[in-house]
Amino acid sequence: MHGLRFEELFALLTSAPLSSTELVRLRNWIDGIRDPAECLALIEAAAAGRPCPHCACARLHRCGFASGLQRYRCLGCGRSFNALTGTPLARLRKRECWLPYIQCLLESRTVRDAALVTGVHRTTSFRWRHRFAPGAARHRPSTLSGMIEADETYRLESQKGSRNMTRPPRRRGGAARRRGINREHDCLLVARDRVGMTLDFHTGRGPITAAQLHTCLQPVLPSDGLLISDGAAAYVRFAADAAITHESVNVRAGRRAHGAIHIQNVNGWHSRFKNWLVRFKGVASRYLANYSGWQRLLDAKALRTPAQWLCAAVRQAQ
Ligand SMILES: [Zn+2]
Repeated sequence: MHGLRFEELFALLTSAPLSSTELVRLRNWIDGIRDPAECLALIEAAAAGRPCPHCACARLHRCGFASGLQRYRCLGCGRSFNALTGTPLARLRKRECWLPYIQCLLESRTVRDAALVTGVHRTTSFRWRHRFAPGAARHRPSTLSGMIEADETYRLESQKGSRNMTRPPRRRGGAARRRGINREHDCLLVARDRVGMTLDFHTGRGPITAAQLHTCLQPVLPSDGLLISDGAAAYVRFAADAAITHESVNVRAGRRAHGAIHIQNVNGWHSRFKNWLVRFKGVASRYLANYSGWQRLLDAKALRTPAQWLCAAVRQAQ
């Protein structure tokens, strides 16, 4: 039945006179079709040799297939799992659309645009964005080296899409009620070394504190590194407490650099991030880390193909 229908369709298609624009459309459509088996094979390969995600036991045996993926049963805890268990991609459907969807992430398409291109519903497109982006964004350097620039950028807190607002809505994005950086602002800390390795941290609301710097930076700074920041007191205190060599540039006094001591690389990252965000017309605070992680992947050009992105999202969970 299925074969017959295809033959009929094919006969119709080959008998139809196609204009050059129609040919292009047909070619693009065929190029966009992915074999669902391709996605499944990538997932299985990325998770190969993975221990039980529930108890980390390596003793397991195979127990059939579900939705095209091998199921395993753990001999330690007795629970079953597949290659996606414990990853943000677990239980997402329509795997034949995943690779084309990830291509949309690589092209920074909007939710609506990605839905149109891949043929999924807009709510699915939004949900997938916030599974695939943070999934792959766990692919991040574990440490930085040499001279490390650190600086924060602040964004007015946003409850976009929230059903239960904790304050009256602002009109047209609006402005903070008070001047300066305060609890109405989300803080995004970015640290970047001179070979371009970059880490982003959403530290919450309000100006950065020495304690937050300690939590974010202490684990990723090498003991022989040089931290460079603006003149904010939090950095001075953190560097002294953590015994890390520190230089600051007095940006407020108009001194942007003295020799190699500057934070222009990290500030360049901030401005690329802000320009990139414009297309999304405002992002909710609770998703800010997903967007900065997504932009970090694009900016680093570390994951260039949908297949690499998918493997990163599956593999990093281990
Ligand atoms: Zn187990």
